[in-house]
Amino acid sequence: MFKAILIEKDEAGYRAGLREIDEARLPAGDVTVEVSHSTLNYKDGLAITGKGPVVRSFPMVPGIDLAGVVRDSQHPDYRAGDRVILNGWGVGETHWGGLAGVARLKGDWLVPLPDAFTPRQAMAIGTAGYTAMLCVMALERHGVGPDTGEVVVTGAAGGVGSTAVALLSGLGYTVAAVSGRPEEADYLRGLGAAEILDRAAFSEPGRPLARERWAGAVDVVGSHTLANVCAAAKYRGVVTACGLAQGMDLPASVAPFILRGVSLIGIDSVMCPRPERVAAWNRLARDLDPVKLDAMTSEIGLTEVVATADRLMAGRVRGRVIVDVN
Ligand code: NDP
Repeated sequence: MFKAILIEKDEAGYRAGLREIDEARLPAGDVTVEVSHSTLNYKDGLAITGKGPVVRSFPMVPGIDLAGVVRDSQHPDYRAGDRVILNGWGVGETHWGGLAGVARLKGDWLVPLPDAFTPRQAMAIGTAGYTAMLCVMALERHGVGPDTGEVVVTGAAGGVGSTAVALLSGLGYTVAAVSGRPEEADYLRGLGAAEILDRAAFSEPGRPLARERWAGAVDVVGSHTLANVCAAAKYRGVVTACGLAQGMDLPASVAPFILRGVSLIGIDSVMCPRPERVAAWNRLARDLDPVKLDAMTSEIGLTEVVATADRLMAGRVRGRVIVDVN
């Protein structure tokens, strides 16, 4: 038996709770992992609260991230005792996930835990942090650097946003952090933000073109916020879009793209090819200040997952949440 969060949906409704589950019920897979830590991302919040159509089959163990040790493996790349992490690939959506003591998965989905990290630190980063790194790498690939000009991060006090602020400032960028939580200004300055901007100035409909300001952007918010960030991008500025915390819509015009040569780069962590994942994790090991990572992290146990998912969806969780599943 192992402990896990289980989401069920039937005539009694949609519900998530802590359960004891027989290992015989684990899904098929060539690697079995003793999970030590998982985490809560926005998508886990949507799954656990039922606020978004994340879970595709029921019952489902949520958790799009996990870190742990291989118990047994039929996969050529892994053997018992290996330290591994997993992010995405539909785990926690279509395949039982990481908010559990044990997981059985495809070895092809796993990444070896970088030596620089403990399993706990890897989950402090989680999909949110790895996605922030994918955004930074995309900015670099498209020619944005610390000397190109200011960069802006939206949803800055959340998980992706906090990690993006810490990474970009650590790399020498001048970072403006957009947040709806003025009480988190000191926290964001501590992560390296040079300026804090009120999200109210971004979240309403704006002009197709605004004063040129941003050389680069990491947007986790979508909707009018993303449209306004594009409208204020500098000539040949680069905007990475990874989230929808404000909305899935994009009420923008083509003006920034055809008049200023702005690039809008989509970022997906779920199906991201393995070499880029490994590169992102290696960059996180090199570029993310562990002291800042600690400052953005809180820890809970499985018993607190459901209540914390509600707080996350209400925008009341700061930074990242580690879940110690034992
Ligand atoms: P969090 O909940 O930790 O952070 C989201 C932040 O967005 C909040 O902290 C808040 O920041 C801001 N926000 C929330 N609601 C609104 C709103 N209505 N209008 C404007 N801003 C808002 O989530 P994560 O950091 O885990 O994820 C952020 C987004 O990125 C999500 O949409 C998630 O689905 C997406 N994502 C996408 C991935 C991909 O592969 N493309 C991978 C990981 C995440 P503040 O309080 O500072 O204003």
